[in-house]
Amino acid sequence: MASFDLKKKIAFVTGGNGGIGLGMAKGLGAAGATVVIAGRNKTKAQAALAALKALGATAEFVELDVLHEASCKQAVAGVAEKFGRLDILVNNAGTSVRKQPQDLTAGDWHLVMDTNLTSAFFCAQAVYPHMASAGGGKIINIGSMMSIFASSYATPYATSKGGIVQMARSMAVAWAKDNIQVNTILPGWIDTDLTRKAREQVAGLHERVLARTPAARWGSPDDFAGIAVFLASTASDFVTGTAIPVDGGYSVLA
Ligand code: NDP
Repeated sequence: MASFDLKKKIAFVTGGNGGIGLGMAKGLGAAGATVVIAGRNKTKAQAALAALKALGATAEFVELDVLHEASCKQAVAGVAEKFGRLDILVNNAGTSVRKQPQDLTAGDWHLVMDTNLTSAFFCAQAVYPHMASAGGGKIINIGSMMSIFASSYATPYATSKGGIVQMARSMAVAWAKDNIQVNTILPGWIDTDLTRKAREQVAGLHERVLARTPAARWGSPDDFAGIAVFLASTASDFVTGTAIPVDGGYSVLA
């Protein structure tokens, strides 16, 4: 279907070197986009590039530390300069510190907020002029079930993931005139490095997730290929400012 075709599009995926980011990068690459995966870990990036190339995708890795505004701006500028355009931004890089609110340090708070939320702001700001001058673009943010729900051990994480939904809505309103659509994906519980750590730290988590998810399984990064293609393509040109759960039904179970 032509409206899902991403040929000639350039996509930039933060944290695309693993987990959900790589799942989305694979979808975008398979739909024809040139995919630039960005992150810190080069070993993971080599494996990710091999996986993308095995699918026939055109892919590159760019070093990025989203904790630094300059790194976000430099990476985006480099991609836009090299390819002459930047059509799709996926703000996926994320982290978590699991502690009760009274035990969190200022460093914990800033690490999570800066990685999950502030970086998405910087990257979106950096891509805006390129998308606006090209006549449009797509920004896809990654939220969480913690954009909706809460947990005693996830204060900064839930704050950042609630914030990213409101940030997407604000940018969607501001940039609709530029034909830039800004949306957020809300993953349920997905089997990645991030949640493998959580399963070690939070007793009974694995069983609770299975019991609470109508699909009765953990999600896999590949479950995000389709939604990424939809939100990156002209198929979603009238979809903006929204937050779409990809959660096996987790958010609708009473
Ligand atoms: P992973 O840990 O596999 O991926 C996180 C990615 O973020 C890594 O590729 C990492 O790259 C990148 N990253 C982290 N910090 C930085 C940084 N300072 N600079 C650049 N890149 C950084 O976890 P997931 O795939 O699970 O997480 C991806 C997104 O999905 C996150 O935003 C997470 O909050 C969200 N999410 C995940 C859920 C799940 O169940 N797994 C549920 C809901 C949301 P590098 O290794 O190079 O640092």
